[in-house]
Amino acid sequence: MGVSENYRSIVQELESLKPEGTPTLIAVSKFQPKEKVQEAISGGVIHFGENRVQEGIEKFSDLGKPEKDFILHHIGPVQSSHIRKYSGLYSFVHGVGSQKILEELKKRMDQDRWKIRYFLQVNLTHEDSKSGFSKEDIMELLLKKETLSSEFCVLEGFMTMGPSSGDLEETRKVFREISDIRKEFLPQGKLSMGMSGDYKIALEEGSDYLRIGTAIFGERT
Ligand SMILES: *Cc1c(COP(=O)(O)O)cnc(C)c1O
Repeated sequence: MGVSENYRSIVQELESLKPEGTPTLIAVSKFQPKEKVQEAISGGVIHFGENRVQEGIEKFSDLGKPEKDFILHHIGPVQSSHIRKYSGLYSFVHGVGSQKILEELKKRMDQDRWKIRYFLQVNLTHEDSKSGFSKEDIMELLLKKETLSSEFCVLEGFMTMGPSSGDLEETRKVFREISDIRKEFLPQGKLSMGMSGDYKIALEEGSDYLRIGTAIFGERT
């Protein structure tokens, strides 16, 4: 099956499992050739995710108009060196993992007058290999809610990943915990969680954005 057929069949599955409030499906095109992205755009796919900023620029900058022909998401930890490259192309970033990065992002987007929506990355698995705020840090940060968004840099919600072990029971616990944090501290906020291996659990636990790569594009080359 082609990429856009895979995308559509997952969307249909999501709609049948959860007709009210089907999450947005982001097609994660990292390491996939540009031709596959073009094919997906022609087939009507709008939301794409890349985890290397430069790769995203090389693939997408001549594929049309951002926000109209495609909506590009940076997924994974945001680094200082990325921030100046978002303007003009990226609409969302999933993975602001520190206050320092957040300050840099706000400053840059306001300067460039380029609107970006961001997710705070929360690390609830206690794995050092994953970046993001701990539960305690995120709660402290949310007490200063008015400082979290600026004119061009808007807090969208929380992003998280399940444990590297892939244990689905553990994954559900992590997703449920972040869902509870949202309910209590940021009820209008959105959740970005769920990948090829755990998106049905993420759907059940109330995710708003699923980031799916291999189940749409096949194995990365
Ligand atoms: C690669 C990646 C995904 C997609 O992973 P698949 O298992 O291919 O669906 C989702 N989120 C992040 C942050 C990623 O780096």
